[in-house]
Amino acid sequence: MAVDRDTTLAWMTSFAASMEEHREELVQLDTAIGDGDHGTNMNRGMQKAVAQLAAAEQADTGAVLKTVAMALISTVGGAAGPLYGTLFLQLGTVLAGLQEVDLPSYAAAWRRALEGVQARGKAQAQDKTMVDALIPAVAALEAATDLEDGIRAAAEAAHQGALATTPLVARKGRASYLGERSAGHQDPGATSTYYLFKSAAETFAH
Ligand SMILES: [Mg+2]
Repeated sequence: MAVDRDTTLAWMTSFAASMEEHREELVQLDTAIGDGDHGTNMNRGMQKAVAQLAAAEQADTGAVLKTVAMALISTVGGAAGPLYGTLFLQLGTVLAGLQEVDLPSYAAAWRRALEGVQARGKAQAQDKTMVDALIPAVAALEAATDLEDGIRAAAEAAHQGALATTPLVARKGRASYLGERSAGHQDPGATSTYYLFKSAAETFAH
Protein backbone atom coordinates (compact mmCIF):
# COMPACT_ATOMS: atom_id res chain seq x y z
CA MET A 1 0.00 0.00 0.00
CA ALA A 2 1.25 3.49 -0.77
CA VAL A 3 2.69 5.69 1.96
CA ASP A 4 0.68 8.89 1.63
CA ARG A 5 -1.35 11.28 3.75
CA ASP A 6 -4.33 8.95 4.21
CA THR A 7 -2.32 5.81 4.99
CA THR A 8 -0.07 7.79 7.34
CA LEU A 9 -3.22 8.91 9.16
CA ALA A 10 -4.23 5.25 9.37
CA TRP A 11 -0.75 4.37 10.70
CA MET A 12 -1.02 6.97 13.45
CA THR A 13 -4.53 5.78 14.35
CA SER A 14 -3.21 2.22 14.51
CA PHE A 15 -0.29 3.28 16.72
CA ALA A 16 -2.68 5.11 19.07
CA ALA A 17 -4.78 1.95 19.36
CA SER A 18 -1.60 -0.05 19.99
CA MET A 19 -0.52 2.30 22.79
CA GLU A 20 -3.94 1.89 24.38
CA GLU A 21 -3.79 -1.90 23.99
CA HIS A 22 -0.24 -2.14 25.41
CA ARG A 23 -0.53 0.61 28.01
CA GLU A 24 -0.39 -1.75 31.00
CA GLU A 25 2.49 -3.79 29.54
CA LEU A 26 4.54 -0.60 29.00
CA VAL A 27 3.66 0.61 32.51
CA GLN A 28 4.94 -2.67 33.93
CA LEU A 29 8.17 -2.54 31.91
CA ASP A 30 8.76 1.06 33.02
CA THR A 31 7.88 0.25 36.63
CA ALA A 32 10.68 -2.34 36.66
CA ILE A 33 13.44 0.05 35.57
CA GLY A 34 11.94 3.56 35.49
CA ASP A 35 9.10 5.57 36.99
CA GLY A 36 6.24 3.55 35.52
CA ASP A 37 4.68 6.25 33.40
CA HIS A 38 5.65 5.22 29.85
CA GLY A 39 2.45 3.36 28.93
CA THR A 40 0.21 6.02 30.45
CA ASN A 41 2.17 8.83 28.80
CA MET A 42 2.27 7.29 25.33
CA ASN A 43 -1.41 6.39 25.46
CA ARG A 44 -2.39 9.90 26.56
CA GLY A 45 -0.14 11.52 23.96
CA MET A 46 -1.38 9.42 21.07
CA GLN A 47 -5.05 9.88 22.02
CA LYS A 48 -4.38 13.62 21.95
CA ALA A 49 -2.60 13.28 18.60
CA VAL A 50 -5.54 11.41 17.07
CA ALA A 51 -7.94 14.07 18.36
CA GLN A 52 -5.83 16.83 16.81
CA LEU A 53 -5.56 14.94 13.52
CA ALA A 54 -9.36 14.72 13.44
CA ALA A 55 -9.79 18.41 14.26
CA ALA A 56 -8.23 19.75 11.06
CA GLU A 57 -7.27 18.41 7.64
CA GLN A 58 -3.56 17.93 6.96
CA ALA A 59 -2.18 18.84 3.54
CA ASP A 60 0.24 15.93 3.17
CA THR A 61 2.16 13.13 4.89
CA GLY A 62 4.59 15.53 6.52
CA ALA A 63 1.80 17.61 8.02
CA VAL A 64 0.22 14.52 9.60
CA LEU A 65 3.51 13.62 11.28
CA LYS A 66 4.20 17.17 12.47
CA THR A 67 0.73 17.33 14.04
CA VAL A 68 1.53 14.14 15.98
CA ALA A 69 4.89 15.61 17.02
CA MET A 70 3.33 18.76 18.43
CA ALA A 71 0.65 16.79 20.29
CA LEU A 72 3.27 14.57 21.93
CA ILE A 73 5.58 17.45 22.84
CA SER A 74 2.72 19.37 24.45
CA THR A 75 1.10 16.39 26.22
CA VAL A 76 3.80 13.93 27.26
CA GLY A 77 6.24 14.70 30.04
CA GLY A 78 9.44 12.93 30.94
CA ALA A 79 11.81 11.76 28.24
CA ALA A 80 9.27 10.15 25.91
CA GLY A 81 7.48 13.34 24.85
CA PRO A 82 10.55 15.22 23.58
CA LEU A 83 12.11 12.07 22.07
CA TYR A 84 9.02 10.86 20.22
CA GLY A 85 8.22 14.48 19.38
CA THR A 86 11.65 14.79 17.76
CA LEU A 87 11.17 11.49 15.94
CA PHE A 88 7.87 12.54 14.35
CA LEU A 89 9.07 16.08 13.70
CA GLN A 90 12.09 14.81 11.75
CA LEU A 91 9.99 12.28 9.83
CA GLY A 92 7.54 15.05 8.99
CA THR A 93 10.27 17.47 7.94
CA VAL A 94 11.83 15.06 5.44
CA LEU A 95 8.42 13.99 4.08
CA ALA A 96 7.00 17.54 3.92
CA GLY A 97 5.23 18.31 0.66
CA LEU A 98 5.29 14.72 -0.60
CA GLN A 99 1.94 13.33 -1.70
CA GLU A 100 3.28 9.79 -2.07
CA VAL A 101 6.44 8.56 -0.36
CA ASP A 102 8.89 6.18 -2.06
CA LEU A 103 11.40 3.87 -0.39
CA PRO A 104 14.42 6.23 -0.60
CA SER A 105 12.40 9.09 0.93
CA TYR A 106 10.95 6.87 3.64
CA ALA A 107 14.35 5.44 4.57
CA ALA A 108 15.90 8.94 4.54
CA ALA A 109 13.14 10.21 6.83
CA TRP A 110 13.79 7.43 9.31
CA ARG A 111 17.56 8.07 9.18
CA ARG A 112 16.87 11.71 10.10
CA ALA A 113 14.47 10.62 12.84
CA LEU A 114 17.14 8.34 14.33
CA GLU A 115 19.73 11.12 14.16
CA GLY A 116 17.31 13.54 15.81
CA VAL A 117 16.51 11.16 18.65
CA GLN A 118 20.21 10.46 19.21
CA ALA A 119 21.09 14.16 19.15
CA ARG A 120 18.41 14.89 21.74
CA GLY A 121 18.86 11.87 23.99
CA LYS A 122 22.62 11.35 23.51
CA ALA A 123 21.98 7.59 23.39
CA GLN A 124 24.17 5.18 21.46
CA ALA A 125 23.57 1.55 20.52
CA GLN A 126 23.32 -0.79 23.54
CA ASP A 127 22.48 1.99 26.01
CA LYS A 128 19.11 0.21 26.55
CA THR A 129 16.86 2.86 24.99
CA MET A 130 14.46 3.26 22.06
CA VAL A 131 17.56 3.73 19.89
CA ASP A 132 18.21 -0.02 20.18
CA ALA A 133 14.99 -0.67 18.25
CA LEU A 134 15.46 2.27 15.88
CA ILE A 135 19.00 1.48 14.68
CA PRO A 136 18.24 -2.01 13.28
CA ALA A 137 14.88 -0.87 11.88
CA VAL A 138 16.46 2.02 9.96
CA ALA A 139 19.22 -0.28 8.71
CA ALA A 140 16.58 -2.74 7.45
CA LEU A 141 14.80 0.05 5.55
CA GLU A 142 18.07 1.24 4.02
CA ALA A 143 18.93 -2.30 2.91
CA ALA A 144 15.52 -2.90 1.32
CA THR A 145 14.73 -2.80 -2.40
CA ASP A 146 10.93 -2.65 -1.99
CA LEU A 147 8.97 -0.30 0.28
CA GLU A 148 6.53 -2.84 1.70
CA ASP A 149 9.23 -5.49 2.18
CA GLY A 150 11.39 -2.84 3.87
CA ILE A 151 8.66 -1.84 6.30
CA ARG A 152 8.03 -5.49 7.19
CA ALA A 153 11.77 -6.06 7.68
CA ALA A 154 12.02 -2.89 9.80
CA ALA A 155 9.25 -4.15 12.11
CA GLU A 156 10.99 -7.50 12.54
CA ALA A 157 14.34 -5.77 13.16
CA ALA A 158 12.77 -3.40 15.71
CA HIS A 159 11.24 -6.40 17.47
CA GLN A 160 14.60 -8.17 17.69
CA GLY A 161 16.22 -4.91 18.81
CA ALA A 162 13.68 -4.44 21.59
CA LEU A 163 14.05 -8.05 22.78
CA ALA A 164 17.84 -7.64 22.77
CA THR A 165 17.63 -4.79 25.32
CA THR A 166 16.69 -7.25 28.08
CA PRO A 167 20.20 -8.30 29.17
CA LEU A 168 21.66 -4.81 28.74
CA VAL A 169 22.69 -2.54 31.61
CA ALA A 170 21.13 0.89 31.04
CA ARG A 171 23.53 3.75 30.34
CA LYS A 172 20.95 6.46 29.61
CA GLY A 173 17.75 7.68 31.20
CA ARG A 174 16.24 6.93 34.57
CA ALA A 175 17.00 3.21 34.24
CA SER A 176 20.73 4.01 34.34
CA TYR A 177 20.35 4.97 38.02
CA LEU A 178 19.76 1.26 38.70
CA GLY A 179 23.12 0.24 37.24
CA GLU A 180 23.47 -3.55 37.03
CA ARG A 181 19.96 -4.03 38.40
CA SER A 182 18.54 -2.67 35.14
CA ALA A 183 19.65 -5.89 33.40
CA GLY A 184 16.98 -8.55 32.95
CA HIS A 185 14.18 -6.18 31.91
CA GLN A 186 13.15 -5.21 28.38
CA ASP A 187 13.39 -1.48 27.75
CA PRO A 188 9.97 0.22 27.59
CA GLY A 189 11.05 2.83 25.01
CA ALA A 190 12.49 0.21 22.67
CA THR A 191 9.25 -1.72 23.12
CA SER A 192 6.99 1.20 22.17
CA THR A 193 9.27 1.89 19.18
CA TYR A 194 8.78 -1.73 18.09
CA TYR A 195 5.00 -1.19 18.31
CA LEU A 196 5.36 1.92 16.11
CA PHE A 197 7.03 -0.17 13.38
CA LYS A 198 4.57 -3.03 13.93
CA SER A 199 1.71 -0.59 13.28
CA ALA A 200 3.53 0.61 10.15
CA ALA A 201 3.84 -2.95 8.85
CA GLU A 202 0.19 -3.69 9.60
CA THR A 203 -0.88 -0.48 7.86
CA PHE A 204 1.42 -0.21 4.85
CA ALA A 205 2.53 -3.79 4.21
CA HIS A 206 -0.23 -6.19 5.12
MG1 LIG B 1 9.08 6.77 32.71
